[in-house]
Amino acid sequence: MRNAVKAAQWGERGGGYKVPWARDQADGKVACESTTFRCLRLFIRPSLFGLLVPAAEQANYWSTACGMLKLSCQLYPTSAEEIAAIVRILNANNETFAIKSGGHNPNQGFSSIDGGPLILTRELNEVIYDAASGTVRVALGNEWEDVIGALEGTGVTVAGGRIGDVGVGGLVLGGGLSFLSTQYGLVANNIGPTNYSIATLYTIKAHPQGQIWGGNIIYTPDKTPEILAAVRDFTEYYPDDKAGINITIELTQFGVIDMWLMFLFYEGPTPPAGVFDNFTAIAHLNTTESVINAAGLIRSIASQPIPKRLARKAKEMGGDLLDLDDDIDRIILEFDSSWLSTLDNKRMNAATQKLYIGSKNLVDQYQGQGKLTEAYLPLFANDAYYRQNYFGRLRTADFARRVRDEYDPTGFFASRTGGWKM
Ligand SMILES: Cc1cc2nc3c(=O)[nH]c(=O)nc-3n(C[C@H](O)[C@H](O)[C@H](O)COP(=O)(O)OP(=O)(O)OC[C@H]3O[C@@H](n4cnc5c(N)ncnc54)[C@H](O)[C@@H]3O)c2cc1C
Repeated sequence: MRNAVKAAQWGERGGGYKVPWARDQADGKVACESTTFRCLRLFIRPSLFGLLVPAAEQANYWSTACGMLKLSCQLYPTSAEEIAAIVRILNANNETFAIKSGGHNPNQGFSSIDGGPLILTRELNEVIYDAASGTVRVALGNEWEDVIGALEGTGVTVAGGRIGDVGVGGLVLGGGLSFLSTQYGLVANNIGPTNYSIATLYTIKAHPQGQIWGGNIIYTPDKTPEILAAVRDFTEYYPDDKAGINITIELTQFGVIDMWLMFLFYEGPTPPAGVFDNFTAIAHLNTTESVINAAGLIRSIASQPIPKRLARKAKEMGGDLLDLDDDIDRIILEFDSSWLSTLDNKRMNAATQKLYIGSKNLVDQYQGQGKLTEAYLPLFANDAYYRQNYFGRLRTADFARRVRDEYDPTGFFASRTGGWKM
């Protein structure tokens, strides 16, 4: 078992929201105060970067907490060359900056920035299927729903995110767990060579795809022991590579609507008999999507099966930084918390740490007692909290350091952008 945690704030998601510090400007625009911006405007492409930039982008994060950081300017490069131009100018000043793709990472300072330029990849939106090579060229500004949408009618798909509006950029860099991972490995295992530092384009292996079956099941919390046993068995005896599950317990503020929410996926028109029997046999309620967004929702825990066969497939496809061995089944635990007021940030931060440290202690304790097998337990980057020791838990950390030293010898990206430090 591995534990990971995310922390996000509950609030508005999407456009239409103006950042508090720009509210007094009727047109919702903010003046740009960045040195990088001024240099770009003077020397590179004055037409591309206007003097005023829309504030709406700043609110376009999955976590409102990220949108609260006051970026100094937003840059929308349309090509790798324009990104290179931005990097050259950043190299000549000392501004800290951030790169944003889909904006779904909830850690402040990863794809959000306080007082520095934000580079947005959204104008890099190419999706080109090449039938001859069986690959899809995907630019990093896309969201997964753009990629899947562009492939409609081609008869192929790619291993990608399980929720449509997550960005291609961040998900792949963190490894990427897909509903197709038991068949094709992590999303990153399907990628061809690409740029380092600021990535602009992935060449992703295409896989044939026909009809997809999917469904939701809702359980009441009294079914917890049966559900956990079913998830455990499903992970160990994985009945069918084409099957996928995502199960989350949603815990509301006053325990009013606590429930388990399960999403079932099958790559085919209908799952063969028996595949999901362990789950459908447990008494459940009908799907009612409106319940999921209940106001006051504060915490959810997702259990994500990583069976041996997924690790095996990841190795067969070329391996990755996680380097999971395939002699043990794992379940990634993902803790999400949302809250309304920034006044609670400190308390929630402490609670989040207590939660993931406590879970890790339990795992260690069970291993010590022989209830759980000793195992390599790295963190899954896409679900990890900024305070967790990501590289400390990674057995490939030395390799990562060598790559960093080769491609970023001056520590430009390491020191000027957010994220875990080695
Ligand atoms: C609702 C939801 C569903 C999710 N589902 C899945 C899932 O199915 N599978 C899974 O594996 N994960 C999933 N995640 C986790 C998600 O993959 C991570 O949060 C990921 O970091 C988000 O990527 P992004 O591009 O949207 O985020 P961003 O916040 O834009 O970027 C995340 C990180 O990547 C960096 N980055 C982005 N683009 C580039 C680039 N071009 N070059 C260099 N660095 C870049 C950013 O600087 C930042 O550090 C989910 C998260 C949410 C909130």
